[in-house]
Amino acid sequence: MSYRFLMGPALSFVTVSLLAAQSVPTPRSYFSFEIGAERQMANWTELTSYYEKLAETSQRVTVDTLGATTMGRPFVMLTITSEENQARIEELHAIQMKLSDPRQVSGEEELSRLLDTGRAVVLITHAIHSTEVGGAQTAARLAHRLASSDDPKVREILDNVILLDIPSLNPDGTEWVVDWYNQWLDTEYEAGPMPWLYHYYVGHDNNRDWYAFTQKETQHTVLGAHNAWHPQIVHDIHQMGGNGARIFFPPYIDPIEHNVDPGLVTAVNMLGTYMAAELTAQGKDGVVVDAIYDGFTPARAYQHYHGGARILSETASARIATTTTVPPERVGGGRGYDAAVASANYPNPWRGGEWGLPDIVDYQDAGAMALLTNAAKNRRYWLENFYWVNERAVNGWDEWPSAWVLPADQENPGGLAYVLRILRMADVEVHEASRAFQADGNGYAAGTYVIPMNQPYASFAQTMLEVQHYPDLREYPGGPPRRPYDVTAHTLPLLMNVEAMAVEHLQPGLDAIVGGDPIPTPDFEFDLPSGLEEGEAPRIAVYKSWQEPMEGGWTRWVFDQHGLQYDTLKDARAREGSLRRDYDVIVFQDQSPTSISEGYAAGALPDPYVGGLSEDGLRALEAFVKDGGRIVAIEAATDLVADLFDIGVSNAVERLESLDFYVPGSILEVRLDTEHPLNEGMDESVSAWYWGSSRAFNIEDPDVRVTARYSEGNPVRSGWILGPEYLAGKAAVVEASVGSGSVVLIGFQPNYRAQSMATWPLLFNAMNPSGGERPRTEAGGGS
Ligand SMILES: [Zn+2]
Repeated sequence: MSYRFLMGPALSFVTVSLLAAQSVPTPRSYFSFEIGAERQMANWTELTSYYEKLAETSQRVTVDTLGATTMGRPFVMLTITSEENQARIEELHAIQMKLSDPRQVSGEEELSRLLDTGRAVVLITHAIHSTEVGGAQTAARLAHRLASSDDPKVREILDNVILLDIPSLNPDGTEWVVDWYNQWLDTEYEAGPMPWLYHYYVGHDNNRDWYAFTQKETQHTVLGAHNAWHPQIVHDIHQMGGNGARIFFPPYIDPIEHNVDPGLVTAVNMLGTYMAAELTAQGKDGVVVDAIYDGFTPARAYQHYHGGARILSETASARIATTTTVPPERVGGGRGYDAAVASANYPNPWRGGEWGLPDIVDYQDAGAMALLTNAAKNRRYWLENFYWVNERAVNGWDEWPSAWVLPADQENPGGLAYVLRILRMADVEVHEASRAFQADGNGYAAGTYVIPMNQPYASFAQTMLEVQHYPDLREYPGGPPRRPYDVTAHTLPLLMNVEAMAVEHLQPGLDAIVGGDPIPTPDFEFDLPSGLEEGEAPRIAVYKSWQEPMEGGWTRWVFDQHGLQYDTLKDARAREGSLRRDYDVIVFQDQSPTSISEGYAAGALPDPYVGGLSEDGLRALEAFVKDGGRIVAIEAATDLVADLFDIGVSNAVERLESLDFYVPGSILEVRLDTEHPLNEGMDESVSAWYWGSSRAFNIEDPDVRVTARYSEGNPVRSGWILGPEYLAGKAAVVEASVGSGSVVLIGFQPNYRAQSMATWPLLFNAMNPSGGERPRTEAGGGS
């Protein structure tokens, strides 16, 4: 892949040439409908051709293709600024790069000149969640206005701001969802669900990839926009549920993540509040701040660790592009506000009524314009704040160690490569020690990886490498836990099974150890375990229903990266029976028994997408196992499999109240029976991912073999847990023989968003019923 400013002057991207003579086409003339018209949407093919037309006809606009999407579509970024700024864009880019790294600024005089001449760089990203359809349409309206209007407000923005606009963060999904909607328009299925993930691998989880960078779309955005420009402001446009506020802006609710610079937290609060004020001043009702969303996880907030303020906006949804009516009595609240009551953070409640695509696009457009206006009016503040945040990082925070060190010679080289890849892709400078050294009394070899913690993006390294101690937040004193918006842990060394140490005193000093350039970004190093190579692997099927869970997609991604051969098993094939003829192993990722066996109800979708495994499919699974096959079931799917085969286990944490037991996404210690083939090649202690859909098993049949248990005492290693005693010592993974086959029930998530590499060996071992050097343990007694 190639990116404009990464590659220097040898431009291998396409910048469409500027032709001043033509007039800038309006969306209406180009699409034959107004952007934001009810039930009318342009798809990705149409949108990208419009953006090329804008770049051809407006000297304010360039369009670059940053790479190809997962399915091969162009992943596009517009750069929009005044004609004068476009003419000196390289110079303005160089200023931005200097401000992003205070080590490159020679003194007060140069700094003052950079602050005088630099422009505020704003990145707006649209449509990461494809069914939140407004964003991709809003992008076209916004781009047209900025490309063509001579309104003084627009000129002020163009003169002071360089806007990088990614009109869809998931072009494949934008194309699919719009085409699906148009296909069923004016039928009983209008605005119905699309029966596959709108990102080929990860669906809605595509905005949980902002530190692991596994997907192409994330990589293009991080390398081609974030790292190429280090924007001061990033605005990510989303939609939320339709019964409460009409639009959310920050401040976010607690907790903040403690490595985010306070100057960024306050910048976010200021800008979000400004946007709310602008929209409210315009008479828009239903604007809420300081509610619903927290900003804790870096999985959603790359820019918080790269000098940028992240402004999430969430506009109320309709039914895709079809207008809905919300009766006043159905207007409901959310965390941090009551939608029926005026309050300081929600002063002008929305009282219900009609809401559709025209409203969504109006609100999103107004939000983006307010954000750009603030960036333009406060250009110098944004540049100074950015510089100071970066300067504090370069000086190192008192709370941070001097350095992190990762020994080069580790048991899990694939995990080490993954961690180093993440850090380097996030612009963290990682060095190989040029000589042996001592740190805090321990000796390290030459070649040890060293991350000095006095560098611009040290906060990213710190948050990704340290252990999280998530605060015990309650709805009210003594009340139930306050649910985090996402999860509570992201400690890479635990997830990836890698050794990393925070060190304070290095001898000789850092400078003597880390001279020279940082290491290049390593690639993934994923090796297929022995016995699973093409030709010798068991015949594997990954179950894929019309309601495929995202965990199924993440599993396909990991298997594809490893080159593991597998089929996807659809309901129709399963119902035919004779599964043993084609398969040795069938995998069911986290999916509820009802979803697996029943799927979509008749009438919800056209006939080919209705129904699940049904009775025929379940009987076929029974025959498959009795005939020597293996079923591997994960989390919620274990309920169906345990039931179907009458395995003597029950979910030990099923009926517990959150006040008593709560693990909203944490890393726990699990202890393994290393004699069992499922744990081949693994250590006795492993870090595993546990969250709301995870299970712990009570064993009611002595013939069920327990191969892994949650550790005794408090098993949490990073994150948050309430009621560890309910998990302690319980079975986490079990295996049972059925007929001449077997079932494996995995209670935790062995492939958490393609990051829990520590437990991938278990997942792969489970794919190989005949694997392992040692003879299989026969039935009899749990460990
Ligand atoms: Zn969203």
